[in-house]
Amino acid sequence: MIADLRSDTVTQPTPDMKHAMWAAPLGDDVFGEDPTVKKLEEKCADLLGMEAAVFCPSGTMTNQIGINVLTQPYQEVICYKGAHIYKYEGGGLAGTSGVSVRLLEGDRGRLRVSEIEPNINNPKDAHQPLTTVVALENTVVREAGSFYSLDQIAAVSGFARSRGLHLHLDGARLFNALAETGDDPQAYGQHFDTISICLSKGLGAPVGSVLVCRKELEPAVRRMRKVLGGGMRQAGMLAAAGIYALDHHVARLREDHYRAQQLAQILAAQRWVKSIMPVDTNIIIFELVPSVTPQQFLAALESHQVKALAFGPTQIRMVTHLDFTDAMLTRATEIIKKLSF
Ligand SMILES: *Cc1c(COP(=O)(O)O)cnc(C)c1O
Repeated sequence: MIADLRSDTVTQPTPDMKHAMWAAPLGDDVFGEDPTVKKLEEKCADLLGMEAAVFCPSGTMTNQIGINVLTQPYQEVICYKGAHIYKYEGGGLAGTSGVSVRLLEGDRGRLRVSEIEPNINNPKDAHQPLTTVVALENTVVREAGSFYSLDQIAAVSGFARSRGLHLHLDGARLFNALAETGDDPQAYGQHFDTISICLSKGLGAPVGSVLVCRKELEPAVRRMRKVLGGGMRQAGMLAAAGIYALDHHVARLREDHYRAQQLAQILAAQRWVKSIMPVDTNIIIFELVPSVTPQQFLAALESHQVKALAFGPTQIRMVTHLDFTDAMLTRATEIIKKLSF
């Protein structure tokens, strides 16, 4: 029994999820004929209070399409300096959309109006790229899953709209945020032009992301999905897993957060942990003391069948998920207490 805490993407589809995939009615989705894909898209649009949604293979693709349909080359996107769209998507903003990026510090990755405002370029100055999009991430993966409240989102969107800017949300872990805030997902739609959600993170589907968007953007989104090679055929098998995940795996996310808290408490008490970021959802990021390298630490952990991830030269990341059980939590905490360097 390996406890794999490297990422919430390592989960296996459950037997019931596999059954839903097996039983799904299928068609060619590039022809718009897959009823299960359509059902997932409608479900996601309804859930987030928007009109349209497009099923894609990955969150990288939904993010990159979202930015692409909201920008023209040479324009500028404002985001957090550690944002997934900037740091972990292979330079797609530059390559796919030809945009430049203005990177902000944020409050644990959360952008505030006071920081956005002075970073909007003067649209009358031809030297400066035209600022057109503010992109938020919720939860913020690089900041150990910090999250926005709906009020904070509303403040940013109200301001950005007043300045004629578009808004994209990287909501790969939006449901983890909602599990903590209790905010109504339907209230999200009014604040954004495009919202990317992942089905293959905490929700436990094997593949898939959905880009939820305003109706007018849908044709451009579908065109870009085709350009990027994301037009899939009998994709209902995958969409069925997503529908199952939304129906059965949202309410349980708080369990993952609870287990992350338990792990964090034990970690914080260890001499070889220099510091640990606040744990708000399912992601733990901590810094080792200088005498212990991530490689040493990970090797020791793995010799006891527990896996984690090196996150930069001195940090370790652990992420709880559907396949990290209470029994694994008990064992992992025992092992952590026993490790010595
Ligand atoms: C995982 C993740 C994505 C999407 O990644 P894919 O692996 O391409 O699905 C996007 N944003 C954040 C914050 C993520 O953690």
